[in-house]
Amino acid sequence: MHPAIAIDGPAASGKSTVAKLIADRLGYTFINTGAMYRAVTWYMLEQGIDPADTDAVLAALPSVPLSFGKDGSRSIVLCNGSPLTEELTRQEVNDHVSTIAAIPEVRSLLVNRQRDYNRQEPVVMEGRDIGTVVFPDTPFKYFVTASEEVRAARRAAEGLTDSIAERDRKDSSRATAPLAQAQDALLVDTSDMSIDQVVNFITDNIQQ
Ligand code: C5P
Repeated sequence: MHPAIAIDGPAASGKSTVAKLIADRLGYTFINTGAMYRAVTWYMLEQGIDPADTDAVLAALPSVPLSFGKDGSRSIVLCNGSPLTEELTRQEVNDHVSTIAAIPEVRSLLVNRQRDYNRQEPVVMEGRDIGTVVFPDTPFKYFVTASEEVRAARRAAEGLTDSIAERDRKDSSRATAPLAQAQDALLVDTSDMSIDQVVNFITDNIQQ
């Protein structure tokens, strides 16, 4: 089994863009784990379940009709067989995803699926706990960040309003698998770097 490339970092740090490009360059599959937490959140909201009502979320969790597949070299999330796309970046999903992601049972369900991907083929996986929890033994760990101003500007440039500071606060302070740099992860501050520079830097480091 090839060691996974683990890319973690706060919201809107550009890690998704660079992870996809690194995966393309290496011929690996790109897995965006945020989409998995977003999909569970979207589904609960669709069912009229309050994300803060943990008992109700846990009651619904075993019958969530989500599946995790691939479209070419990137992961996709499907609900009853149909791919989810714009649903995942809706404002209400942004607002509630950190609450859903703090529930340990949700995390263990998704972490198992994330490990399954890497059993099948080499992956570049991005999220919040990939280097700390999902693949703690991989030698390839990167913590990609940028200043809060730069991150807010990047989100705005995508035309999205997103409560990134609030999400980061919740993601960093939860009890289970908080957003954190793994001790052995390489910190990459992208505030003054172009996307190409970040991709080259990480790819060179992997291939050293
Ligand atoms: O990466 P993205 O910003 O789409 O992630 C959405 C949310 O999903 C995060 O704010 C966090 O609450 C949760 N998440 C997580 N662990 C991961 C990936 C995402 O808790 N590995």
